[in-house]
Amino acid sequence: MFNNANTVPAMSHPLPSSVKHLVVGAGFAGLCAAIKLQEDGETDFLVVEKGSDVGGTWRDNTYPGAACDVPSQLYSYSFAPNPDWSMSFSPQPEIQAYIRRTAERSGTLDRFRFDTTVEDAAWDAATQQWVVETSAGRVTASTLIVGAGGLSEPKLPDIEGIDGFQGELFHSARWNHDVDLTGKRVAVIGTGASAIQIVPEVQKLAAHLDVYQRTAPYVLPRNDRTYGRLERAALRHVPGLQKAYRTAIYWAREGYVPGFTLQPKLALPAKKMALGNLAKAVRDPELRAKLTPTFEIGCKRILISNTYYPAIASDNVELVTDRIARVTPTGIVTEDGVERPIDVLVVATGFFTTELPITEHVTGRTGRTLADTWRKDGMAAYKGTTVPEFPNLFMLVGPNTGLGHSSMVFIIEAQVQYLRDAIRTMNANRYAAVEPTAEATQEWNADIQRRMQRTVWNTGGCSSWYLDDHGRNTILWPRTTFAFRGLLSRFDVAAYDVEAPVQAGSPSLTTTPEEVTA
Ligand SMILES: Cc1cc2nc3c(=O)[nH]c(=O)nc-3n(C[C@H](O)[C@H](O)[C@H](O)COP(=O)(O)OP(=O)(O)OC[C@H]3O[C@@H](n4cnc5c(N)ncnc54)[C@H](O)[C@@H]3O)c2cc1C
Repeated sequence: MFNNANTVPAMSHPLPSSVKHLVVGAGFAGLCAAIKLQEDGETDFLVVEKGSDVGGTWRDNTYPGAACDVPSQLYSYSFAPNPDWSMSFSPQPEIQAYIRRTAERSGTLDRFRFDTTVEDAAWDAATQQWVVETSAGRVTASTLIVGAGGLSEPKLPDIEGIDGFQGELFHSARWNHDVDLTGKRVAVIGTGASAIQIVPEVQKLAAHLDVYQRTAPYVLPRNDRTYGRLERAALRHVPGLQKAYRTAIYWAREGYVPGFTLQPKLALPAKKMALGNLAKAVRDPELRAKLTPTFEIGCKRILISNTYYPAIASDNVELVTDRIARVTPTGIVTEDGVERPIDVLVVATGFFTTELPITEHVTGRTGRTLADTWRKDGMAAYKGTTVPEFPNLFMLVGPNTGLGHSSMVFIIEAQVQYLRDAIRTMNANRYAAVEPTAEATQEWNADIQRRMQRTVWNTGGCSSWYLDDHGRNTILWPRTTFAFRGLLSRFDVAAYDVEAPVQAGSPSLTTTPEEVTA
């Protein structure tokens, strides 16, 4: 399906005034949409990306130790297998190179505009178009495909005095490679998925490292493995071998779902393994107690590392569990009054997840933004993808599409399949606009929240970034990934209000699909 043209991004091309499909973001999601639109002959599209390259997460997260924590054979596109992964959990530069290579080979890059930020998008009912203001000018589009990322906008901690810190300060997702950590006193705030990759690398360089922990995570052994030359040759040349690897990993990962969503007791072997991993690396009982989670395994994201606990147990590392009171120009003071001086402060405090920044800038047909629409009850979409009052809007990695156990690329591909079928349906029936009904959306989300009640994320005794201000989990998908794919395999037009094209001068016509197709 790929041509071999090594297309160079035409960044200097002016923005067209109008396209059929506008894609926001050039991460795994936006690129997948672009490739599949092209495959369907829907070539009148544009991808706008505020960064200077494709990659999204993998362009931005360049911190030392950055790697995926779902095996690469699965954490990659099904339609672009890569026999050359160097190891089971590939490092960031390899993933970024894979995304770039896939983009180049797809021949879509001439329709990407980098360094272009979507500042505002509003549905115009009169023209049945999205009117999108970008940093490079205005563009109108029939469909707006938002792949702006769920973990894209770094969240800085709200700590007194942090703005007055006089040393080097940066977020894990915006690593400052100009700062040499050798021999420095460093603090890392956070013990989530990024922090546990960063800490072992910083520990090797720093004179001293303070790790500020609010809650101790469960950390399983990483079971990483390098693919040797022979194995990679076999993956390249033996028909079906790579698919077999991918399938085996997929089903092993899917095995976590019952423990997360139905019966937390099923996750007890994993809990035992994580506590064993801790006991093996940390002999000091006091430190071990601080590192022992106080909630059920799976309630927060389960992490994997062979090096985190040994790093924490090193002589040059202190695990600080007292709450941070304030940051001074030269250090951090905890609530017990102790000040620890530092040269460099790394904040690994995650991202805006339940209040996505892009939602402030997307306005639907009633004049409300997505953020306003969701402010009262939290994020909710139909099938994680479409939203009432927002015609022809498709959100990739939308509400309740996140996973705690498997590859987000699998979810993205399922959503893009739904988008493709929606576009086919619209073309075939000459619909100008589709919008999910409030009833279908309400039913979909009521079912999700009902299922959520018994999941470990709600019952496991932790507070996590999966939960919004209302205590609702609007991030994760509470079923198997194959159920998600099945439910999104066809565009179910019966759940939508559709509009025929507006005739010049006549009002827009909202009608049921049956009426239009009749
Ligand atoms: C450190 C880290 C490790 C991860 N590891 C894994 C893993 O192992 N397995 C897994 O399944 N998932 C993992 N994830 C989740 C990961 O985010 C997803 O797997 C996936 O990369 C998301 O792709 P995306 O295209 O939806 O979003 P992103 O990759 O975040 O891309 C969104 C893009 O949209 C652009 N954008 C945003 N707003 C605008 C705007 N207004 N105008 C123009 N452009 C805009 C951004 O610049 C960005 O390039 C990880 C996340 C992080 C942060």
